[in-house]
Amino acid sequence: MLPFARIMEILRPGIRILMYHRVCTNDKYDQLTVEPERFTEQIKYLSGHYRIISLDNAITELKSGVIKKRTVIVTFDDGYLDNLIYAAPILKKYNVPATIFITSQFCDQVKQHPRYKDEKGRLHLTWDEVKELHAMPNITIGSHTLSHPYLSLLDSTKSKDEITESKKIIEEKIVYPVKYFCYPSGDFGVREMNFVKEAGYQAAVTVAPGKNRPGIDYLLLKRVEITQKDGPADIKAKLSGAFDIIHQLLHWRRQRNFARAARHNNK
Ligand SMILES: [Zn+2]
Repeated sequence: MLPFARIMEILRPGIRILMYHRVCTNDKYDQLTVEPERFTEQIKYLSGHYRIISLDNAITELKSGVIKKRTVIVTFDDGYLDNLIYAAPILKKYNVPATIFITSQFCDQVKQHPRYKDEKGRLHLTWDEVKELHAMPNITIGSHTLSHPYLSLLDSTKSKDEITESKKIIEEKIVYPVKYFCYPSGDFGVREMNFVKEAGYQAAVTVAPGKNRPGIDYLLLKRVEITQKDGPADIKAKLSGAFDIIHQLLHWRRQRNFARAARHNNK
């Protein structure tokens, strides 16, 4: 670990939100998939060395202004069926809370994530399975829009619908308030932040790397991606902030390239 990162973590501790997508076996490496055996190793290590709390408790602590060291949140994006089959039992075994952000049309089974368009078999959770996860004491369900679009490329009405209507639909299905939102592909602007706020969400997560400190805008929560390559030592380094500067540079470059592509496509 870099001494600088270690000192910063002691002086200015922050909550780290981990970003996962899929947990399943894979023929070849996929950045968004962690195999069950590796996931077990990661969760076992995390539960033994960090304080893993729910997003609800994290928001309460951020609002209180008092952050405890080594605090971690676990999140999953897109609502994959494998979250129920492989991830949920491991989370239960180690008593780890997690939030799963679902896309309502994926659960309707009328659309699926384009990254896995060649997937054989069903990719996403059904609504009954979402309800099953919601009934587990350690799982929170959040919204990841209606159709997983690039929100910033939509007109205002459509962007607002994606954010507002998905909340209503999920709440009707699970009969429980949906308090958290996740911007698809980390793509959003001030307009989307306002829609998230107006819809009544308490917080939203991005793909911007870094730690979350008191005073942060709750609509801009930062996350760190955990991959198949991350063993305990890698997780320790990532959570210590050793890679924060590199990750921030990569994120900035990615956002800049995305903005360029979007401008080009809109021409
Ligand atoms: Zn997504």
